[in-house]
Amino acid sequence: MSRYEAKDPIHGWVVPFEHQADRFDLQVVLLQNFPWTKPRVYCNEKFRFMQYPHIEKDGAFCLYPPGTEHNPLNPKGLIWGAIKEATRLIVASYDDAFISDFADEFDSYWSKTDGGKNIVSLLSPGGPSRRVSLWCSTGDYYLADDHTALESWLRNRFPGNKKDYKFNTATHIALNRPILPSEYPRSGAAILRFLRELAPESIELLEDAAVTADDKFTVSFEGRTDDGPVFFAVEVMPPVKQSMKAGRRPDMVQQGFRPGKVPTHIRMQRLFGGNKVERHETMRADPSWIHGRDTATVAPLFDKRVLMIGAGSLGSEVALLLAKTGVGSITLVDPELLDYPNVGRHILGVSQVRTFKAKSLAEKLAGDFPHMRSIQYFAEDWQSLYSKRSEIFHNTDLIVSTVGSWVAEGRLNQVARNEAGFPPVIYGWAEPFSVAGHAVLIGSNGPCFACGMDHFGRARQTVCEWDTETTRKQPHCGASFQPYGPVSLSGVAALVAKTSTKALLGEMHLGTEAVYWASKEEIAEQGGRFNPDFLNCFSDVPEFGGTRRFEWRQKVDCAFCGEE
Ligand SMILES: [Zn+2]
Repeated sequence: MSRYEAKDPIHGWVVPFEHQADRFDLQVVLLQNFPWTKPRVYCNEKFRFMQYPHIEKDGAFCLYPPGTEHNPLNPKGLIWGAIKEATRLIVASYDDAFISDFADEFDSYWSKTDGGKNIVSLLSPGGPSRRVSLWCSTGDYYLADDHTALESWLRNRFPGNKKDYKFNTATHIALNRPILPSEYPRSGAAILRFLRELAPESIELLEDAAVTADDKFTVSFEGRTDDGPVFFAVEVMPPVKQSMKAGRRPDMVQQGFRPGKVPTHIRMQRLFGGNKVERHETMRADPSWIHGRDTATVAPLFDKRVLMIGAGSLGSEVALLLAKTGVGSITLVDPELLDYPNVGRHILGVSQVRTFKAKSLAEKLAGDFPHMRSIQYFAEDWQSLYSKRSEIFHNTDLIVSTVGSWVAEGRLNQVARNEAGFPPVIYGWAEPFSVAGHAVLIGSNGPCFACGMDHFGRARQTVCEWDTETTRKQPHCGASFQPYGPVSLSGVAALVAKTSTKALLGEMHLGTEAVYWASKEEIAEQGGRFNPDFLNCFSDVPEFGGTRRFEWRQKVDCAFCGEE
C-alpha cells in the first residue's frame, strides 16, 4: 500500500484479470472521502505514464473523461464500473492503434523541460508551415504571424513599455498529427526524424532558418487532431564543447569556416545533430482560441469595425460585450469625463474617475483584448469629430449610438440620410429604470430613425407607461438623471450588443427594431405597467421578460426621409 499512502487510501483490493494468456493484477484503491471521490485502479509495470495513453502520472488508469460526474449513492456500482473500464483499456492496448490516443491527450503529456519557457502564441491556427515573429522577454516568449501583429499586441498588453521591441524570427511547422511521447525530441537530430515522416516539405524551411542561425533557435509546431490543433515548441540549442567554461562558448555552428561561409548541410548537421533541445509550453492567445476555443465562427466578426457613439453606462457595457464576442475593431467617441456616480453602473471604476470615458475604456479594452485589430478613441462629441474627420464614420461597418439625446441622434439621423455611403446605424436606449430597452437598426434607405420618434426625440412606441415623473432632479440647474441599476441595465446592453452582432453578420433587416422587456412584476415594482399599444402585439399579457423584433415603420410625412 505504500505506493498510495500519500493519497490517503482507506481500502483496496487486488483483482486478477487475464487477457490473451497475460495475467494482470488490478489494484483497486478507495481514497478518503469515497464515495465522493472516484475509485482509482492501478496495474502492473506494463502500464506506465508516457508508455501508454490514459495512464496518469502516478500510474493510475485515467478512467473517466474530464468533468465526468458520478453517483456517490451507488458505491458498489462505482467500483465495478472502474474495474470494467480498466479492463477495457487493457484489452484495447493490444491493438496497435491504441497508441494514437496519445494525440488526443497531447496537452496532458507534453510539458516544458528545465530552461523551457512559456510561449504566448498569437499564431492563427490552420495555416501552413512558415517563418513567424518572435519576441523573447526575460520571462516568456511571444509568437505572432508577423512583426506588426506582435508589436500591436505587446503595445496593448504592456502599455507602460515605451522602449523599442527587438524581434526575432522563429519557424512554425504544421504537422498532420501531434508527435507521440516516443518522438519527443531530446536532440536536434530527433526533430529531423519526426519531420521526415510528418512534414518532409518543412525541412527546407528549417534549412533556410539555419542559414542565419548562429545561436539557439525556436521551432514552433502545430499538430492536427480531430478535436482541433495542439501547439507546442522547442528551443534548438547550439552545439557546445563540454569542456568549455560557461560564458566562453565558441560558435560551434561557425567553427572551422569563415563567417557566413558554412555550407548549409554542415550547419544543418550541427544544429540538428546531437545538440540539446529544450521543450517549451505553448499557451494560445489568438482570437480564434480566446473567442470560443476554435468552435465559434469568430473570423467574420473579427474583420468588422464598429464605431460607438457614447461610452456611458450602456455604451461601455455594449463595447465590452462586442469585444468579448470577437469584434476586431472598435472606435469609441465620447466627450465626457467619468464621475463618481457613474461608477455604480459603468464598467470603469473609481480609479478612472476624472479621466475621459472614451480614453479609459479604450485602454481597458486594449489591455483585456490585446489581439484586437484596432481600438481607437476620440474624447469629443461625434459632431465635432465628424466635421474634421468624416472618413472615420464612412470607414466603419456599423455605428452604434447609445447617447440617448435627440440633439446628437436626431442630427446623426439627418447626416446618415443625406450622405451617400453612410454605414447603418443602431440606436440603442433604455426605458425608465431599464425595465425595457430598444435597439433600432437603420440603413440609408427605408425608414429613418425619426420616423418612429416625435419632434422631441421621444419614441412613439414604448413598452411601459408611468403615472409619475421617472427622472430624478439633481441639485444643479437643469440636471436630472434616470434612476436604474446595473443589473437591469445588463438586459438592455445584451439586446443592443446582440442586435449589433446580428447586423454585422447581415442577419437582420435594416428598418428593424429589437425590444427587450423585464417581467411584469419587475415593471410593477418600479411603479410602471405595460403600455396598451405594446400589449396589442400579444394575444396574452406577457408575464415574463422577453425580446421581440418589430418592423420600424416609415412615416409618410417624415421631415427627414419623407417625399418632398
Ligand atoms: Zn423618416
